[in-house]
Amino acid sequence: MPNDLSPSACSAAPILKERGQHEVFCGLTSIIWLHRKMQDAFFLVVGSRTCAHLLQSAAGVMIFAEPRFATAILEETDLAGMADAHQELERVVSDLLSRRSDIKRLFLVGSCPSEVIKLDLATMAKKLSKKYQPAVNVVNFSGSGIETTFTQGEDACLEAVIRDLPNDDKTQLAVLGALPDVVQDQMLRLLTDMGIEDVLVLPQQTAGSPAGVGKNTHFICAQPFLGAAYDEMVRRGANAIHAPFPFGANGTTEWLAAIAKRFGVEQGKFDAVTAGPKARAERAIAKVSETLTDRSIFFFPDSQLEVPLARFLSDECGMKLTEVGSPYIHRALVGEDLKLIEHNALISEGQDVEKQLDRVTACNPDLTVCGLGLANPLEAQGFSTKWAIELVFSPIHFYEQAADLAGLFARPIVRSDLLKVGGAI
Ligand code: SF4
Repeated sequence: MPNDLSPSACSAAPILKERGQHEVFCGLTSIIWLHRKMQDAFFLVVGSRTCAHLLQSAAGVMIFAEPRFATAILEETDLAGMADAHQELERVVSDLLSRRSDIKRLFLVGSCPSEVIKLDLATMAKKLSKKYQPAVNVVNFSGSGIETTFTQGEDACLEAVIRDLPNDDKTQLAVLGALPDVVQDQMLRLLTDMGIEDVLVLPQQTAGSPAGVGKNTHFICAQPFLGAAYDEMVRRGANAIHAPFPFGANGTTEWLAAIAKRFGVEQGKFDAVTAGPKARAERAIAKVSETLTDRSIFFFPDSQLEVPLARFLSDECGMKLTEVGSPYIHRALVGEDLKLIEHNALISEGQDVEKQLDRVTACNPDLTVCGLGLANPLEAQGFSTKWAIELVFSPIHFYEQAADLAGLFARPIVRSDLLKVGGAI
C-alpha cells in the first residue's frame, strides 16, 4: 500500500511518489516525430551502437529517402582520445553539411553512454554554429536515457530551441509542442476565427520564418511533457497560460477559453467559434463512450500524457480511474487537469515497477495503459493493454480528433470483450 503520500499543491488528491526500478524508453525516441515536424532539421545523435539500433528499429531504415537523422557511433576506445573524438565529430559534421545543403538546423543530440557524457557537445555546438552560420544553426540537446522518459527528448529539444531564440517584445501567442500538421492547421484556424492571428508555434516547421520571444509573449503548452521548455519560456520573461490540455470536447474548450480570456476575446465570438465543433465532438465522443463508460483503467507512467488523458477519460467518457501513474508531475503544467480528476483515483509519480505490478493485479482493471516492455507480459496474464507510445504518434488533440482519441481506448476493450465471448463459445 502507498507509504509516501504527500499533498499536491493543485489537487486535494494525494500523490504517491515512487523512486524504484522504472520501465521507460529513452529521449532519443522523440527524434522519430521531431524529424518529421522540422523539415529542414537534421538530428545527429552522438551515441553508441545501442542508440543507432534504437533509432533504426523505431523509425525503420530509410533506404530510399534522404535520412534526416543519423548516429555518430563512439567506440569505447575513443575514451582514450577525447581530443580526437571532438575532431572526428567536426569532420562528420563537415562531410554531412557539404553533401546536404537542405539542412538549416543541425541538432547534436547527446546520449547516455559514458564515452558520450564526457564530450562537451554544448561547446561543440556553439563552435560549429559560429563556423556554419548563417546557413546552418547548430544546437545541442540531450536525449539520454538516464532518469528520463521518451517524451523528454522533445522537451529538451524545445528548451534548446527557445534558449536560442532572439528577444522580441511584440504581443503574441506562442503554442509549445509538436503537433501533426493537420491538427496544427485546425488549431490555427480556431485561433484565427477567434481573432488571434499572431501565433508562434514551437518547434517551427522551418527555420526561415522569423521568431522571437519576450515579455509580451503569452504562451500555452499543447503537450503536457514540456516542463523544461515551459521553465525556459518563463526565464525568457514570457507569460504562461494555464488550462486543461486540449483533449476531448471539454478539454479543448477550456484550453481555448483560457487563451480567449488572456487575449480579451468576447464571449459571443468565442461561443460562435467553438459551439459547433464542440457539439459535434460531444456527439462523437458519446457514441464511443458506450464502450468506455464504467470500465476501469490503470495508467503506468510512460508518456507524461497520463494526467490529462485520465481527466478526459473520466470526465468525458465515464471511465473509472484506478491509478494514474506519470513519470513526472509538473504541477504548473498539469495542475488544471489534476483538479478535475476523480479524487478516489491514486495519482502516482515515478515508478517502482514491482510494486506497481502488484497494484495492477489487485485492481484488475478493464484496460491498462503502459510501455511496450510491460504490455506483452501483462497481455499474457490476461490484461487488456494500450501502448502509451501510440498516443504520442496519433493525432489526438482538439475537437476533430476527440472521438478518435476515445476510440484508441475503446478498441482494446472491444477486442478483449470479443475474445471473452469467443472463449465462452
Ligand atoms: S541514449 Fe542510452 S538509453 Fe537511449 S538508446 Fe542510447 S544507450 Fe540506450
